[in-house]
Amino acid sequence: MREVVEAIKGNGKFFLATHLNPDGDAIGSAVGFGLALKSMGKQVTVYASDGVPAICRFLPGVDMVIDEAKEEDISGSTLILLDCNTLERAGLKGFTFKRSIVIDHHQTESPFGDVRWVEPREPATGSMVFRLLEDLGQEITPDIATNLYSAIAIDTGVFRYANTTADVLEMAALLVRAGADPVEITERLYNSWSPDRYRLFSLAQASLELHGPIAMSIVTLGMFQETGTTGEDTETFVNYPLVMDTVKVSVMLKEKEGDVWKVSLRSKGDIDISRVAVQFNGGGHRNASGCSFEGNIADVKQRLLNSLREIL
Ligand code: 5GP
Ligand code: MN
Repeated sequence: MREVVEAIKGNGKFFLATHLNPDGDAIGSAVGFGLALKSMGKQVTVYASDGVPAICRFLPGVDMVIDEAKEEDISGSTLILLDCNTLERAGLKGFTFKRSIVIDHHQTESPFGDVRWVEPREPATGSMVFRLLEDLGQEITPDIATNLYSAIAIDTGVFRYANTTADVLEMAALLVRAGADPVEITERLYNSWSPDRYRLFSLAQASLELHGPIAMSIVTLGMFQETGTTGEDTETFVNYPLVMDTVKVSVMLKEKEGDVWKVSLRSKGDIDISRVAVQFNGGGHRNASGCSFEGNIADVKQRLLNSLREIL
């Protein structure tokens, strides 16, 4: 972390970027950090190549997020990758920056970055940003607190997943003291579905197949069309089958244009699902990972099942 602190103190212009298909940790950590850097007098751009999902639009300061990488913002900037560790994952392949810093908690690493701070044991990138701001002696305003609390809440499943420690609960308490409203935030993050989204959820769950300890569900383009929803409306669907005591792994396949399938993987306990994601050029965490496939659905399912059975 020391090197990151030095790099922040020694530079004036930053380009913060987070991963494709961003979640609450991606947006919350980037916006929270962006607000803090601004109040330090730095010039800041916050970039999310896929834009801000509806579920995150309540976050204060989120209007600063842009989804277009402009030369004037990149030129002379130090890149800070948050919640990811390759240019490709941030939708920035082919761009060059003066310098680059990686702040991430994914266990699937790459060697990218002049300064790298990667802590797979951290529950969220939001918790790393919190530590960084403490080290920088930076005040946590209510707006920053709301972003960081949301980031941590999402990545710990609101303090339920295996990454929930005494440390993270203490941090959450400090963020609430600093002005984050835990009830309001979880209301916005979890009780904000449209009826259309709920119908999509019903269709997705109706597609569920159980293969022993593996639950597999499918969301097709037809389902999006039928319910008037889009790709981001499936967020958290993959978690639900884990409520069954017999299910150890949940997989959701989401259809994209051109025979492409985006796969979300979730597991319980010690089952390291990132091993499966990595086999198919994806990545993530022990209990939450993802990857993509091109091909027909029967083929994709079979390849996934074979690979899952190997690790179970
Ligand atoms: P989700 O299933 O919610 O899209 O992603 C779960 C976790 O896996 C997130 O931490 C996300 O960053 C990571 N992830 C999802 N898809 C990919 C991928 O294609 N490549 C890599 N490296 N990580 C992914
Ligand atoms: Mn994260």
